[in-house]
Amino acid sequence: MIHIDPRTVILLAGVMSGFMAVILYALKRSYPPAIKGLGEWVAALAIVAIGSSLASGLGYLPNLVSITLPRLLLPSGLFLCYLGMQRFFGATPRPIRWFALIAGVVLVQMWFTFVSPSFHVRLVLSSSLAVCVFLAMLNLLRKQAPSSTAKILTMGVVVVMLGILVMRMVTSVIFPVGRDVLDTSPQQLIYVTSFSFLIVLLSVGLVLMAAERLHSEMSFLATHDSLTNALTRRHLNAVCAIELDRSQRHGRSMALLIMDLDYFKAVNDNHGHLRGDRVLVDFVATANRLLRRPDQLARFGGEEFVALLPETSLEEALVVAERIRQACAQPSPETACTVSIGVTTNHTAGDSVDTLIARADAAMYQAKAKGRNRVESA
Ligand code: GH3
Ligand code: MG
Ligand code: MG
Repeated sequence: MIHIDPRTVILLAGVMSGFMAVILYALKRSYPPAIKGLGEWVAALAIVAIGSSLASGLGYLPNLVSITLPRLLLPSGLFLCYLGMQRFFGATPRPIRWFALIAGVVLVQMWFTFVSPSFHVRLVLSSSLAVCVFLAMLNLLRKQAPSSTAKILTMGVVVVMLGILVMRMVTSVIFPVGRDVLDTSPQQLIYVTSFSFLIVLLSVGLVLMAAERLHSEMSFLATHDSLTNALTRRHLNAVCAIELDRSQRHGRSMALLIMDLDYFKAVNDNHGHLRGDRVLVDFVATANRLLRRPDQLARFGGEEFVALLPETSLEEALVVAERIRQACAQPSPETACTVSIGVTTNHTAGDSVDTLIARADAAMYQAKAKGRNRVESA
């Protein structure tokens, strides 16, 4: 028969949460500030660590420190974890309501600690509060796309925690609940032990979510231009090679557009570089609006852009290019510009990415030579 001592388990949960807080803190220091919520998660785990450690001192420490304080700290820790998730996923946190709820529940619990002591009522109250926070977490996680291993793990842990809390409340009605958290009834032991493991698993889920976010931010930075958010030239070259290969294999047409803003140097010279930057950003927004979902737009450098249009004939590509040319001249007068566009397709046997780009470039220079603000094909 395995003997589990609830005091040791609760203390271990505190120590493990403390370790996880230190690990998350180390991550937070090395992560870009754009990844939000890590500070709340560190604070949450530190608070859970203190709360659990104090709760394990029941009998040795005054009730105010070993019952009331943990009852305040543990839900606050859980709530901070939820707050961190909200900030992590870019939702707007509304902490006042939650803190008021926690404070209200703790006040009622004080009544059932000092005036009319009842472990059962305290247990139902704290479990209900935890259920509310976990349901809010689950709802938030459910809304996030896309699904990832970290998100699934975190959701799984939250669901299991919810199940255990509900089980704890149900069994507290059926079986006697004992005097306090150190009760050695099977249901209390299951609750205390699973809580300790799950809190560690939950923090692993948070660490993994943060790592996944860092990875996606880094790969975005590596593949996107920092000013306009269009793809980088290197990334488009890679995508283009794959698409050309696919098109040649299936005998399909793909189109390439090279777009160069006209007299752009004059925009910088006459209105300053900041205005020039805004023109570039607006151009990308306009072009992206007119391109379809599978199309890819890249900044090739300076005021030169390339669009890859998979499964597109020359006629279709010319229509798209003409739409972009016309739309460009129309945005807010401040960022209006004209553009010369060269269009080509993979119509020649043995075309490579380089030959396509060279041909589209030649067509674009033809448009420049013919007076700019026009579309030419080759
Ligand atoms: P053309 O009609 O022949 O294309 O003339 P142009 O003035 O557009 O071409 P040119 O190559 O002479 O000038 C391009 C200018 O683009 C020069 C450079 O200072 C500016 N430029 C390149 N990158 C950026 C950028 O990121 N921001 C801003 N504001 N300007 C940039
Ligand atoms: Mg230009
Ligand atoms: Mg140029």
